[in-house]
Amino acid sequence: MALDNKIPQGSISSKWTDYKNHINLINPANKRNIDVIIVGTGLAGGSAAATLAELGYNVKAFCYQDSPRRAHSIAAQGGINAAKNYQGDGDSVYRLFYETVKGGDYRAREANVHRLAEVSVNIIDQCVAQGVPLAREYGGLLDNRSFGGTQVSRTFYAKGQTGQQLLLGAYSAMNRQIGRGKIKMYNRHEMLDVVIVNGKARGIIARNLVTGEIERHSAHAVVIATGGYGNVFFLSTNAMGSNVTAAWKAHKRGAYFANPCYTQIHPTCIPVTGDHQSKLTLMSESLRNDGRIWVPKKLEDAQAIREGKLKPTQIAEADRDYYLERRYPSFGNLVPRDVASRAAKERCDAGFGVNATGEAVYLDFASAIDRYGKEQARIHHLDENDAKLVYDLGKKVVENKYGNLFQMYYKIVDEDPYTTPMMIYPAVHYTMGGVWVDYNLMTTIEGCYCLGEANFSDHGANRLGASALMQGLADGYFVLPYTIGDYLSKDIRTGKISTDTPEFEEAENNVRSMIDHLMNNKGEHSVDYFHKKLGKIMWNKVGMARNAQGLTEAMDEIAALREDFYKNVKVSGKAESFNQELEKALRVADFLELGELFAKDALQREESCGGHFREEHQTEEGEAKRDDENFSYVAAWEYKGNPREAILHKESLVYENIKMVTRSYK
Ligand SMILES: Cc1cc2nc3c(=O)[nH]c(=O)nc-3n(C[C@H](O)[C@H](O)[C@H](O)COP(=O)(O)OP(=O)(O)OC[C@H]3O[C@@H](n4cnc5c(N)ncnc54)[C@H](O)[C@@H]3O)c2cc1C
Repeated sequence: MALDNKIPQGSISSKWTDYKNHINLINPANKRNIDVIIVGTGLAGGSAAATLAELGYNVKAFCYQDSPRRAHSIAAQGGINAAKNYQGDGDSVYRLFYETVKGGDYRAREANVHRLAEVSVNIIDQCVAQGVPLAREYGGLLDNRSFGGTQVSRTFYAKGQTGQQLLLGAYSAMNRQIGRGKIKMYNRHEMLDVVIVNGKARGIIARNLVTGEIERHSAHAVVIATGGYGNVFFLSTNAMGSNVTAAWKAHKRGAYFANPCYTQIHPTCIPVTGDHQSKLTLMSESLRNDGRIWVPKKLEDAQAIREGKLKPTQIAEADRDYYLERRYPSFGNLVPRDVASRAAKERCDAGFGVNATGEAVYLDFASAIDRYGKEQARIHHLDENDAKLVYDLGKKVVENKYGNLFQMYYKIVDEDPYTTPMMIYPAVHYTMGGVWVDYNLMTTIEGCYCLGEANFSDHGANRLGASALMQGLADGYFVLPYTIGDYLSKDIRTGKISTDTPEFEEAENNVRSMIDHLMNNKGEHSVDYFHKKLGKIMWNKVGMARNAQGLTEAMDEIAALREDFYKNVKVSGKAESFNQELEKALRVADFLELGELFAKDALQREESCGGHFREEHQTEEGEAKRDDENFSYVAAWEYKGNPREAILHKESLVYENIKMVTRSYK
């Protein structure tokens, strides 16, 4: 099938407005006859569910947690971008558009990104109207901070809990509709297949996670908003339950999967301490507003620190290498994540790592505490030469800004980050790849949409910080409600979709036979055993730096591991009851397929761009070296029986408004 991205004609700044002016609408009475299934009620799915129900559609919403409030979106810490230019520091819709395209290393679709920048300003108004307590300045106006890859302050935030507060906003909007009966909420339900009838998505098969019952649900359209797939690496900052299942099942039914290898490895996470871990913890990028990243300049100092003979506070200023400030003076500690992560790896690989494993660098707040302390002392006419007073005043400012993050670090590492620098290292965090969607957010299955982190759409090869929340809410509050209406306008006379059809039967049987296999397989190893092995292959051969040999090996190793999984996995308990081991097994089965496609995608992309770093393609300074002539496309994969046989379709990326240049943050 040829890929049609359906980008409207016209100038970049008028496309979205013109599009909205000319789409088909559905009158309110007809909307009452149309059902929409939304799988996933994080920020993307939750905002879509609330908005579609408010418009009058009948929404059936699904999530695997006991409440939409527990979606992984709740973990988002640092903030959400919007081109409000409240600071008067030169921001604009164009600048957000430009910086997002540049941040993504020129591998995103211009039209989508411009629309995102346009609607970003509406998101903040929407959330404030819902009562989301975004941070305010002393005078009552909304406050902003900076995130990587930008030189303006456009990030709105609620302490280090922005995701939680935004999700409560979306959840309350949903709840209003649940109360009105316009949303039927299916908590603790997991979608395990999508049902296609006459080429259109018309329903899903879901498992009730409490009773184990397999259910059929029909609708006129299906929306997948099930988040990212970073857990293919086993260790990531994602919630334990984050998975690829819904997206992958849609892929197997005909939805192309785009750029699976584009993964974001976030530079500031608490380092791995050993094999016992199942989770990694993010230290928000917002900390790079004030924290300075460094390692010792001398190898012997780094070694002494690793051996516990020296403390970081004993290293003189002149003996510290603030390597981001050194290499990227214009952006300093606020370079984009892919750049910061690679720079940390480079220093650690060169022997300058500062923890026992040699895989950690420092994030230091001493100068921020001093700077803020002196400022406060001046404001209050106190003695700015009194070191203790300055420290106390400065600490209070830092605590107000990032207190909960510092507390989290202290609880995990048992070191006080106010008095000794934090140790951080890159970790898997976000997936820019995902289900391919056109401008309308429709996948290559008619009537099947994909929103939020689950789709591939707006971030190219690297996502800028605070842009995921913006994209998820843009998709759910402001984009899908228009685009899906245009599609559904053809369905006003269709009537209810029956679940009593061969297509539902086939999909249900498909799910049942997979569950039967897993439950009756008398293997020897737990699901985690396989997941951890997969994670190790992914991290070592498909992680921060990749090469052709490692990727080829990874594909074979993953295929062999998958075979072993089906022979040797052991799932205890029963299928007809609450069974988290079974839930995990179903998810890991899909990760074991995705992992191979992921490596295949990374292998075919013979260039480095954003978060995808091929060792064969780097500049002399170790920066990513793009090949615009041959690789300026979205790689959209069509499923053909197994990941190895997937067929590549290319969507060319055309840049008419932004000139592709070598990305520089110097
Ligand atoms: C620690 C952390 C901090 C972050 N901080 C920021 C930040 O400050 N700013 C920013 O912009 N971004 C941040 N991000 C990224 C951002 O949080 C996510 O990209 C975003 O929240 C994803 O939202 P979503 O709605 O697409 O998916 P999610 O919030 O992951 O929601 C997925 C939903 O799908 C449901 N689901 C999944 N599979 C199924 C299935 N098979 N059947 C039924 N339901 C299913 C789940 O129950 C859930 O409701 C952060 C990410 C992490 C990990």
